[in-house]
Amino acid sequence: MSDSASKALFERARAVIPGGVNSPVRAFRAVGGEPIFVSRAAGSHLWGADGTEYVDYVGSWGPAILGHAHPAVLAALIEAAELGLSFGAPTEREVRFAEKVRELYPSIAKLRCVSSGTEATMSAIRVARGFTGRDVIVKFEGCYHGHADHLLVKAGSGLATFGVPDSAGVPEGTARTTVTLPYNDVPALEALFAARGGEIAAVIVEPVVGNMGCVPPLPGYLEAIVSICKRHGALSIFDEVMTGSRVARGGAQERFGLVPDLTALGKVIGGGMPLAAYGGRDDVMSTIAPLGPVYQAGTLSGNPVAVAAGLATIDLLTPALYEKLEKSGAALEAGLRAAAAKRGVAACVQRVGSMITLFFQAGPVRSWTDAARSDTKRFAAWHAGMLARGVYWPPSQYEAAFLGGAHDEADLAKTVAAADEALAEAAAI
Ligand SMILES: *Cc1c(COP(=O)(O)O)cnc(C)c1O
Repeated sequence: MSDSASKALFERARAVIPGGVNSPVRAFRAVGGEPIFVSRAAGSHLWGADGTEYVDYVGSWGPAILGHAHPAVLAALIEAAELGLSFGAPTEREVRFAEKVRELYPSIAKLRCVSSGTEATMSAIRVARGFTGRDVIVKFEGCYHGHADHLLVKAGSGLATFGVPDSAGVPEGTARTTVTLPYNDVPALEALFAARGGEIAAVIVEPVVGNMGCVPPLPGYLEAIVSICKRHGALSIFDEVMTGSRVARGGAQERFGLVPDLTALGKVIGGGMPLAAYGGRDDVMSTIAPLGPVYQAGTLSGNPVAVAAGLATIDLLTPALYEKLEKSGAALEAGLRAAAAKRGVAACVQRVGSMITLFFQAGPVRSWTDAARSDTKRFAAWHAGMLARGVYWPPSQYEAAFLGGAHDEADLAKTVAAADEALAEAAAI
Protein backbone atom coordinates (compact mmCIF):
# COMPACT_ATOMS: atom_id res chain seq x y z
CA MET A 1 0.00 0.00 0.00
CA SER A 2 2.75 2.45 0.77
CA ASP A 3 5.57 3.29 -1.59
CA SER A 4 9.09 2.06 -0.80
CA ALA A 5 10.45 5.54 -0.06
CA SER A 6 7.66 6.09 2.48
CA LYS A 7 8.35 2.67 3.97
CA ALA A 8 11.99 3.54 4.52
CA LEU A 9 11.10 6.93 6.03
CA PHE A 10 8.52 5.33 8.33
CA GLU A 11 11.19 2.94 9.54
CA ARG A 12 13.49 5.87 10.41
CA ALA A 13 10.61 7.86 11.90
CA ARG A 14 9.61 5.06 14.25
CA ALA A 15 13.08 5.09 15.79
CA VAL A 16 12.82 8.75 16.82
CA ILE A 17 9.11 9.69 16.96
CA PRO A 18 6.52 7.65 18.93
CA GLY A 19 4.73 5.52 16.35
CA GLY A 20 6.63 7.41 13.65
CA VAL A 21 4.10 10.27 13.56
CA ASN A 22 3.44 13.60 15.25
CA SER A 23 -0.32 13.03 15.43
CA PRO A 24 -1.78 9.52 15.82
CA VAL A 25 -4.28 9.26 12.96
CA ARG A 26 -1.48 9.90 10.46
CA ALA A 27 -0.12 6.44 11.24
CA PHE A 28 -2.90 4.82 9.13
CA ARG A 29 -3.57 2.28 11.90
CA ALA A 30 -7.33 2.59 11.48
CA VAL A 31 -6.95 1.16 7.98
CA GLY A 32 -4.17 -1.27 8.85
CA GLY A 33 -1.72 0.39 6.51
CA GLU A 34 1.38 2.53 6.63
CA PRO A 35 1.50 6.28 6.05
CA ILE A 36 2.46 7.96 2.81
CA PHE A 37 5.22 10.47 3.54
CA VAL A 38 4.36 13.63 1.64
CA SER A 39 7.05 15.44 -0.32
CA ARG A 40 4.91 18.31 -1.61
CA ALA A 41 1.39 19.42 -2.42
CA ALA A 42 -0.13 21.93 -4.82
CA GLY A 43 -3.77 22.67 -5.56
CA SER A 44 -5.86 19.53 -5.09
CA HIS A 45 -2.91 17.15 -5.41
CA LEU A 46 -0.13 15.85 -3.25
CA TRP A 47 2.92 13.75 -3.95
CA GLY A 48 4.34 10.90 -1.91
CA ALA A 49 8.00 10.44 -1.06
CA ASP A 50 8.54 8.38 -4.22
CA GLY A 51 6.82 10.92 -6.45
CA THR A 52 3.44 9.16 -6.69
CA GLU A 53 0.68 11.70 -7.30
CA TYR A 54 -2.65 11.64 -5.45
CA VAL A 55 -5.88 13.61 -5.50
CA ASP A 56 -6.04 14.83 -1.91
CA TYR A 57 -9.22 14.76 0.20
CA VAL A 58 -7.49 15.20 3.56
CA GLY A 59 -6.56 18.81 2.84
CA SER A 60 -4.32 18.90 5.92
CA TRP A 61 -7.45 17.79 7.88
CA GLY A 62 -9.39 20.85 6.85
CA PRO A 63 -7.28 23.96 6.29
CA ALA A 64 -6.68 23.53 2.54
CA ILE A 65 -9.97 25.06 1.39
CA LEU A 66 -8.20 26.97 -1.40
CA GLY A 67 -6.06 23.99 -2.33
CA HIS A 68 -2.45 23.60 -1.29
CA ALA A 69 0.18 26.31 -1.74
CA HIS A 70 -2.18 28.92 -3.14
CA PRO A 71 0.03 31.58 -4.82
CA ALA A 72 -1.66 34.55 -3.08
CA VAL A 73 -1.28 32.93 0.35
CA LEU A 74 2.36 32.07 -0.34
CA ALA A 75 3.11 35.61 -1.48
CA ALA A 76 1.55 37.12 1.65
CA LEU A 77 3.41 34.69 3.86
CA ILE A 78 6.78 35.38 2.24
CA GLU A 79 6.24 39.14 2.42
CA ALA A 80 5.48 38.85 6.13
CA ALA A 81 8.39 36.49 6.80
CA GLU A 82 10.85 38.95 5.32
CA LEU A 83 9.79 41.48 7.96
CA GLY A 84 10.60 39.09 10.80
CA LEU A 85 9.26 35.73 11.96
CA SER A 86 8.05 36.54 15.45
CA PHE A 87 8.13 39.52 17.77
CA GLY A 88 6.12 38.61 20.84
CA ALA A 89 4.62 42.08 20.52
CA PRO A 90 1.39 43.35 18.96
CA THR A 91 1.25 44.04 15.22
CA GLU A 92 -1.09 45.87 12.86
CA ARG A 93 -1.65 42.61 10.99
CA GLU A 94 -3.20 40.79 13.93
CA VAL A 95 -5.60 43.68 14.51
CA ARG A 96 -6.66 43.42 10.89
CA PHE A 97 -7.04 39.69 11.29
CA ALA A 98 -9.28 40.11 14.35
CA GLU A 99 -11.38 42.72 12.53
CA LYS A 100 -11.83 40.38 9.55
CA VAL A 101 -12.79 37.41 11.69
CA ARG A 102 -15.32 39.57 13.49
CA GLU A 103 -16.84 40.59 10.15
CA LEU A 104 -17.28 36.93 9.26
CA TYR A 105 -18.65 35.91 12.68
CA PRO A 106 -21.09 38.49 14.08
CA SER A 107 -21.36 36.47 17.32
CA ILE A 108 -17.72 37.33 18.02
CA ALA A 109 -17.27 40.75 19.62
CA LYS A 110 -13.69 40.06 20.70
CA LEU A 111 -11.25 37.28 19.98
CA ARG A 112 -7.85 35.98 20.97
CA CYS A 113 -5.39 34.31 18.60
CA VAL A 114 -3.76 31.06 19.68
CA SER A 115 -1.69 28.50 17.79
CA SER A 116 -3.93 25.41 17.57
CA GLY A 117 -7.54 24.30 17.76
CA THR A 118 -6.70 22.48 20.97
CA GLU A 119 -5.65 25.75 22.58
CA ALA A 120 -8.74 27.51 21.24
CA THR A 121 -11.26 25.09 22.79
CA MET A 122 -9.24 24.64 25.99
CA SER A 123 -9.09 28.41 26.47
CA ALA A 124 -12.76 28.93 25.60
CA ILE A 125 -13.66 26.44 28.31
CA ARG A 126 -11.44 28.12 30.87
CA VAL A 127 -13.09 31.44 30.07
CA ALA A 128 -16.56 29.89 30.35
CA ARG A 129 -15.68 28.46 33.75
CA GLY A 130 -14.15 31.72 34.89
CA PHE A 131 -17.13 33.73 33.71
CA THR A 132 -19.83 31.48 35.18
CA GLY A 133 -17.96 30.37 38.30
CA ARG A 134 -19.08 26.81 37.50
CA ASP A 135 -16.96 23.73 36.80
CA VAL A 136 -19.00 21.23 34.79
CA ILE A 137 -18.81 21.13 31.02
CA VAL A 138 -20.97 19.12 28.67
CA LYS A 139 -19.72 17.54 25.47
CA PHE A 140 -21.15 15.01 23.05
CA GLU A 141 -20.02 11.50 22.20
CA GLY A 142 -18.04 11.41 18.99
CA CYS A 143 -17.19 15.11 19.07
CA TYR A 144 -13.47 15.89 19.20
CA HIS A 145 -12.32 19.18 20.61
CA GLY A 146 -8.56 18.74 20.69
CA HIS A 147 -6.46 16.96 23.29
CA ALA A 148 -6.87 19.04 26.47
CA ASP A 149 -7.41 16.83 29.55
CA HIS A 150 -11.03 17.68 30.23
CA LEU A 151 -12.01 17.23 26.58
CA LEU A 152 -10.51 13.79 26.11
CA VAL A 153 -13.59 12.23 27.58
CA LYS A 154 -16.22 10.27 25.76
CA ALA A 155 -17.68 8.64 28.88
CA GLY A 156 -20.07 5.77 28.99
CA SER A 157 -23.52 6.18 27.70
CA GLY A 158 -26.18 7.50 29.92
CA LEU A 159 -27.43 10.69 31.24
CA ALA A 160 -25.25 12.45 33.76
CA THR A 161 -22.69 9.67 33.80
CA PHE A 162 -19.55 11.06 35.32
CA GLY A 163 -16.81 11.30 32.76
CA VAL A 164 -14.25 8.55 32.39
CA PRO A 165 -11.04 9.59 30.65
CA ASP A 166 -10.41 8.30 27.12
CA SER A 167 -6.66 8.65 27.54
CA ALA A 168 -4.21 7.48 30.14
CA GLY A 169 -2.71 10.43 31.96
CA VAL A 170 -5.99 12.30 32.40
CA PRO A 171 -6.76 12.56 36.13
CA GLU A 172 -10.14 11.16 37.09
CA GLY A 173 -10.88 14.34 38.98
CA THR A 174 -10.50 16.30 35.75
CA ALA A 175 -12.61 13.90 33.73
CA ARG A 176 -15.31 14.00 36.39
CA THR A 177 -16.12 17.61 35.55
CA THR A 178 -16.99 16.59 31.98
CA VAL A 179 -20.41 15.12 31.30
CA THR A 180 -20.90 13.39 27.96
CA LEU A 181 -24.22 13.03 26.17
CA PRO A 182 -25.28 11.54 22.83
CA TYR A 183 -25.25 13.94 19.86
CA ASN A 184 -28.55 15.01 18.32
CA ASP A 185 -30.50 14.13 21.48
CA VAL A 186 -32.40 17.14 22.88
CA PRO A 187 -34.29 15.21 25.62
CA ALA A 188 -30.98 13.97 27.09
CA LEU A 189 -29.69 17.54 27.24
CA GLU A 190 -32.95 18.83 28.76
CA ALA A 191 -32.85 16.11 31.41
CA LEU A 192 -29.23 16.82 32.33
CA PHE A 193 -29.91 20.53 32.72
CA ALA A 194 -33.05 19.83 34.75
CA ALA A 195 -30.93 17.78 37.17
CA ARG A 196 -27.68 19.75 37.26
CA GLY A 197 -28.21 23.02 35.37
CA GLY A 198 -26.76 25.15 38.15
CA GLU A 199 -23.38 23.37 37.95
CA ILE A 200 -22.89 23.62 34.19
CA ALA A 201 -20.47 26.24 32.86
CA ALA A 202 -20.75 25.40 29.18
CA VAL A 203 -21.87 23.05 26.45
CA ILE A 204 -19.31 22.53 23.71
CA VAL A 205 -20.40 21.11 20.37
CA GLU A 206 -19.20 20.55 16.83
CA PRO A 207 -22.14 22.20 15.05
CA VAL A 208 -21.61 19.77 12.18
CA VAL A 209 -19.58 16.84 13.46
CA GLY A 210 -16.55 15.94 11.40
CA ASN A 211 -14.76 13.80 13.93
CA MET A 212 -17.02 10.76 13.78
CA GLY A 213 -17.34 11.19 10.05
CA CYS A 214 -19.68 13.87 8.75
CA VAL A 215 -22.79 14.00 10.94
CA PRO A 216 -25.09 17.00 10.51
CA PRO A 217 -27.22 18.36 13.32
CA LEU A 218 -30.90 17.46 13.16
CA PRO A 219 -33.18 20.47 12.58
CA GLY A 220 -33.59 22.38 15.84
CA TYR A 221 -30.76 20.62 17.67
CA LEU A 222 -28.28 23.52 17.72
CA GLU A 223 -31.08 25.96 18.49
CA ALA A 224 -31.96 23.81 21.51
CA ILE A 225 -28.36 23.86 22.76
CA VAL A 226 -28.17 27.65 22.53
CA SER A 227 -31.53 28.23 24.20
CA ILE A 228 -31.14 25.65 26.98
CA CYS A 229 -27.75 27.16 27.87
CA LYS A 230 -29.26 30.63 27.94
CA ARG A 231 -32.10 29.50 30.21
CA HIS A 232 -29.66 28.03 32.74
CA GLY A 233 -26.92 30.66 32.68
CA ALA A 234 -24.46 28.33 30.95
CA LEU A 235 -22.50 29.29 27.84
CA SER A 236 -22.84 27.66 24.43
CA ILE A 237 -19.50 27.05 22.74
CA PHE A 238 -19.51 26.20 19.05
CA ASP A 239 -16.29 24.40 18.23
CA GLU A 240 -15.98 25.55 14.64
CA VAL A 241 -12.33 24.60 14.30
CA MET A 242 -13.38 22.34 11.44
CA THR A 243 -16.65 23.90 10.25
CA GLY A 244 -15.53 27.53 10.55
CA SER A 245 -15.33 29.15 7.11
CA ARG A 246 -15.74 25.62 5.75
CA VAL A 247 -19.51 24.95 5.67
CA ALA A 248 -20.08 28.66 5.00
CA ARG A 249 -17.92 31.77 5.05
CA GLY A 250 -19.12 32.47 8.59
CA GLY A 251 -19.15 28.81 9.59
CA ALA A 252 -22.03 26.63 10.76
CA GLN A 253 -23.42 29.55 12.76
CA GLU A 254 -23.95 31.43 9.51
CA ARG A 255 -25.26 28.39 7.67
CA PHE A 256 -27.84 27.64 10.36
CA GLY A 257 -28.42 31.21 11.55
CA LEU A 258 -27.31 30.86 15.18
CA VAL A 259 -25.55 33.00 17.76
CA PRO A 260 -23.41 31.00 20.22
CA ASP A 261 -21.81 32.68 23.24
CA LEU A 262 -18.31 31.53 22.31
CA THR A 263 -16.70 30.13 19.16
CA ALA A 264 -13.45 28.25 18.59
CA LEU A 265 -11.80 28.58 15.19
CA GLY A 266 -8.73 27.06 13.55
CA LYS A 267 -7.87 25.13 10.39
CA VAL A 268 -9.28 27.25 7.49
CA ILE A 269 -8.79 30.65 9.17
CA GLY A 270 -5.12 29.77 9.75
CA GLY A 271 -4.53 29.31 6.04
CA GLY A 272 -2.44 26.17 6.65
CA MET A 273 -0.29 27.73 9.36
CA PRO A 274 -0.40 27.14 13.14
CA LEU A 275 -3.07 29.74 13.86
CA ALA A 276 -6.40 29.43 15.65
CA ALA A 277 -8.64 31.72 17.66
CA TYR A 278 -11.45 31.84 20.15
CA GLY A 279 -13.89 34.61 20.77
CA GLY A 280 -17.42 35.64 21.51
CA ARG A 281 -19.45 37.90 23.77
CA ASP A 282 -17.71 41.05 24.92
CA ASP A 283 -18.63 40.56 28.60
CA VAL A 284 -17.32 36.98 28.53
CA MET A 285 -14.10 37.78 26.68
CA SER A 286 -13.48 40.70 29.05
CA THR A 287 -12.73 38.24 31.85
CA ILE A 288 -9.42 37.37 30.12
CA ALA A 289 -6.12 38.78 31.41
CA PRO A 290 -5.03 41.55 31.38
CA LEU A 291 -8.66 42.76 31.68
CA GLY A 292 -9.81 40.05 34.08
CA PRO A 293 -8.85 37.05 36.18
CA VAL A 294 -8.79 34.31 33.49
CA TYR A 295 -5.21 33.67 32.41
CA GLN A 296 -4.31 32.64 28.87
CA ALA A 297 -1.14 33.46 26.94
CA GLY A 298 1.18 32.31 24.15
CA THR A 299 4.68 33.16 22.93
CA LEU A 300 3.71 32.59 19.29
CA SER A 301 0.04 33.67 19.58
CA GLY A 302 -0.89 35.86 16.63
CA ASN A 303 2.41 35.03 14.95
CA PRO A 304 2.85 37.54 12.10
CA VAL A 305 3.65 34.98 9.40
CA ALA A 306 0.72 32.76 10.36
CA VAL A 307 -1.62 35.74 10.55
CA ALA A 308 -0.52 36.85 7.07
CA ALA A 309 -1.47 33.42 5.69
CA GLY A 310 -4.80 33.57 7.51
CA LEU A 311 -5.58 37.05 6.21
CA ALA A 312 -4.72 36.12 2.63
CA THR A 313 -6.92 33.04 2.91
CA ILE A 314 -9.88 34.95 4.33
CA ASP A 315 -9.60 37.42 1.45
CA LEU A 316 -10.20 34.57 -0.99
CA LEU A 317 -13.28 33.17 0.77
CA THR A 318 -15.71 34.44 -1.85
CA PRO A 319 -19.33 33.46 -2.50
CA ALA A 320 -18.08 31.92 -5.77
CA LEU A 321 -15.77 29.62 -3.81
CA TYR A 322 -18.61 28.29 -1.65
CA GLU A 323 -20.83 27.82 -4.71
CA LYS A 324 -18.08 25.79 -6.32
CA LEU A 325 -17.55 23.71 -3.17
CA GLU A 326 -21.29 23.01 -2.95
CA LYS A 327 -21.34 21.92 -6.59
CA SER A 328 -18.25 19.71 -6.30
CA GLY A 329 -19.60 18.25 -3.06
CA ALA A 330 -22.94 17.41 -4.64
CA ALA A 331 -21.22 15.79 -7.64
CA LEU A 332 -18.96 13.68 -5.43
CA GLU A 333 -21.87 12.70 -3.20
CA ALA A 334 -23.94 11.60 -6.18
CA GLY A 335 -21.02 9.70 -7.69
CA LEU A 336 -20.20 7.82 -4.48
CA ARG A 337 -23.85 6.97 -3.86
CA ALA A 338 -24.34 5.66 -7.40
CA ALA A 339 -21.17 3.57 -7.21
CA ALA A 340 -22.20 2.01 -3.89
CA ALA A 341 -25.66 1.19 -5.27
CA LYS A 342 -24.15 -0.31 -8.44
CA ARG A 343 -21.77 -2.49 -6.42
CA GLY A 344 -24.44 -3.49 -3.91
CA VAL A 345 -22.49 -2.17 -0.91
CA ALA A 346 -24.46 -1.01 2.12
CA ALA A 347 -23.37 2.60 2.26
CA CYS A 348 -24.55 5.99 3.34
CA VAL A 349 -23.05 9.23 2.08
CA GLN A 350 -23.39 12.21 4.43
CA ARG A 351 -22.32 15.68 3.43
CA VAL A 352 -22.55 19.28 4.49
CA GLY A 353 -21.03 21.56 1.87
CA SER A 354 -17.46 20.41 1.31
CA MET A 355 -17.34 17.95 4.26
CA ILE A 356 -18.27 14.43 3.21
CA THR A 357 -18.19 10.86 4.54
CA LEU A 358 -18.97 7.53 2.94
CA PHE A 359 -20.15 5.37 5.84
CA PHE A 360 -20.06 1.64 5.26
CA GLN A 361 -23.53 0.99 6.63
CA ALA A 362 -27.09 1.75 5.54
CA GLY A 363 -27.34 4.74 7.91
CA PRO A 364 -28.48 7.36 8.57
CA VAL A 365 -25.73 8.21 11.06
CA ARG A 366 -26.93 10.69 13.66
CA SER A 367 -24.80 9.88 16.69
CA TRP A 368 -21.68 8.03 17.78
CA THR A 369 -23.77 4.93 18.53
CA ASP A 370 -24.90 4.97 14.90
CA ALA A 371 -21.43 5.71 13.53
CA ALA A 372 -19.89 2.82 15.47
CA ARG A 373 -22.02 0.37 13.49
CA SER A 374 -19.98 1.04 10.34
CA ASP A 375 -18.10 -1.80 8.69
CA THR A 376 -14.56 -0.53 9.30
CA LYS A 377 -12.96 -3.61 7.68
CA ARG A 378 -14.75 -2.83 4.46
CA PHE A 379 -13.78 0.83 4.80
CA ALA A 380 -10.12 -0.20 5.16
CA ALA A 381 -10.31 -2.32 2.02
CA TRP A 382 -11.95 0.53 0.13
CA HIS A 383 -9.37 3.00 1.42
CA ALA A 384 -6.53 0.79 0.19
CA GLY A 385 -8.24 0.54 -3.19
CA MET A 386 -8.54 4.32 -3.41
CA LEU A 387 -4.89 4.83 -2.50
CA ALA A 388 -3.81 2.29 -5.12
CA ARG A 389 -5.75 4.34 -7.69
CA GLY A 390 -4.19 7.66 -6.70
CA VAL A 391 -6.84 9.00 -4.33
CA TYR A 392 -5.73 10.09 -0.88
CA TRP A 393 -8.85 9.74 1.30
CA PRO A 394 -8.73 10.21 5.12
CA PRO A 395 -7.39 6.98 6.62
CA SER A 396 -10.29 6.39 9.00
CA GLN A 397 -14.02 5.71 8.67
CA TYR A 398 -14.49 8.37 11.32
CA GLU A 399 -12.83 11.32 9.61
CA ALA A 400 -14.60 13.62 7.18
CA ALA A 401 -13.08 14.13 3.73
CA PHE A 402 -12.67 17.69 2.46
CA LEU A 403 -13.05 19.28 -0.92
CA GLY A 404 -11.23 22.45 -1.80
CA GLY A 405 -11.61 25.10 -4.43
CA ALA A 406 -8.82 23.47 -6.45
CA HIS A 407 -10.65 20.17 -7.01
CA ASP A 408 -11.80 20.19 -10.63
CA GLU A 409 -14.01 17.99 -12.77
CA ALA A 410 -11.12 15.76 -13.79
CA ASP A 411 -10.27 15.14 -10.11
CA LEU A 412 -13.90 14.30 -9.32
CA ALA A 413 -14.24 11.98 -12.32
CA LYS A 414 -11.04 10.17 -11.37
CA THR A 415 -12.23 9.88 -7.76
CA VAL A 416 -15.65 8.49 -8.62
CA ALA A 417 -14.13 5.95 -11.05
CA ALA A 418 -11.62 4.90 -8.38
CA ALA A 419 -14.37 4.70 -5.77
CA ASP A 420 -16.44 2.47 -8.02
CA GLU A 421 -13.61 -0.01 -8.60
CA ALA A 422 -12.51 0.10 -4.97
CA LEU A 423 -16.10 -0.55 -3.87
CA ALA A 424 -16.17 -3.66 -6.04
CA GLU A 425 -13.06 -4.89 -4.21
CA ALA A 426 -14.45 -3.93 -0.82
CA ALA A 427 -17.70 -5.73 -1.57
CA ALA A 428 -15.73 -8.92 -2.16
CA ILE A 429 -14.13 -9.11 1.28
C1 LIG B 1 -9.02 19.64 14.51
C2 LIG B 1 -10.01 19.98 15.55
C3 LIG B 1 -9.62 20.46 16.81
C4 LIG B 1 -8.19 20.52 17.25
O1 LIG B 1 -7.44 21.40 16.50
P1 LIG B 1 -5.83 21.22 16.48
O2 LIG B 1 -5.37 22.37 15.67
O3 LIG B 1 -5.58 19.89 15.85
O4 LIG B 1 -5.37 21.27 17.89
C5 LIG B 1 -10.60 20.86 17.69
N1 LIG B 1 -11.90 20.78 17.35
C6 LIG B 1 -12.31 20.31 16.16
C7 LIG B 1 -13.76 20.27 15.85
C8 LIG B 1 -11.38 19.88 15.23
O5 LIG B 1 -11.81 19.37 14.07
